[in-house]
Amino acid sequence: MTSRLPALASLLLLAGCTAAPPPRPPMAAAMPADDNLNATAWVQNAVEHDLIYLQTYRDAQQRLGAALADAQWDALTPADRLQSPSGLPPAVVLDVDETVLDNSPYQARLIRAHAPFDQASWDAWCREARARALPGVVAFTRHAAAQGIKVILISNRDQALGEATLANLRRVGVPVSGPDALLGLGTNVPGCTQHGSDKGCRRQWVSRHYRVLMQFGDQLGDFLDIPQNTPAGRVAAVKPYLDWIGRRWFVLPNPSYGSWEPALFGNDWQLAMPERRLRKIESLRVK
Ligand SMILES: [Mg+2]
Repeated sequence: MTSRLPALASLLLLAGCTAAPPPRPPMAAAMPADDNLNATAWVQNAVEHDLIYLQTYRDAQQRLGAALADAQWDALTPADRLQSPSGLPPAVVLDVDETVLDNSPYQARLIRAHAPFDQASWDAWCREARARALPGVVAFTRHAAAQGIKVILISNRDQALGEATLANLRRVGVPVSGPDALLGLGTNVPGCTQHGSDKGCRRQWVSRHYRVLMQFGDQLGDFLDIPQNTPAGRVAAVKPYLDWIGRRWFVLPNPSYGSWEPALFGNDWQLAMPERRLRKIESLRVK
């Protein structure tokens, strides 16, 4: 009898915990400002955010049949296309974070704790494997897979997070199968020198095995490597491919983070926050 009491107490405690509302953050006036608040509030609460994802994936789905039927159709740049796509099986390539999985709860935790991004807390969030799918992506990827189109995820999550990421993707219903379903950061591509977190080597690996019908991402680097991460360099990098936008490349919104942000302060993360903020203010157009 006595041995059951702790278990009962635990159950009651657990029931109490699940029923209790989450703790309120301190009064807003007492909370320090956070540059990510508006972006995260928009991602989580603006229905417009969800509609952008939905319309993007729905539009891609409507276009997928024509891309599949056109044997010349391919969505890799010449720099990444190392082998003719002719005769290769079809694939679609998607980034993971903020393209397939919604990590805004992690951003929300940072805001509430007034904590900066940290690799350990990010890894812990990824290992929870509880991120929700973004609107439209499950239907799109399932439709693609049903047409015999391979779904490939190229992510800058570290390879060590591969199993947790695959578990998360399966949990939400994204069809991932085979050893090449997820190419994480650290994937060794023979004959290709990896530069930082650039995805070029992994796209080149895909080019040897698949004809890529479409690419999806929330970062320019999900589509091509950027020679110069400055505002002008980013515009120049994508300029040759503007006709591909909405046809071969589908770009999704990420106001929380991404290479667009350090481009505003010379990619110098050593700069103190006030200096970074000043550079961002200086980047704003007033007319
Ligand atoms: Mg992403």
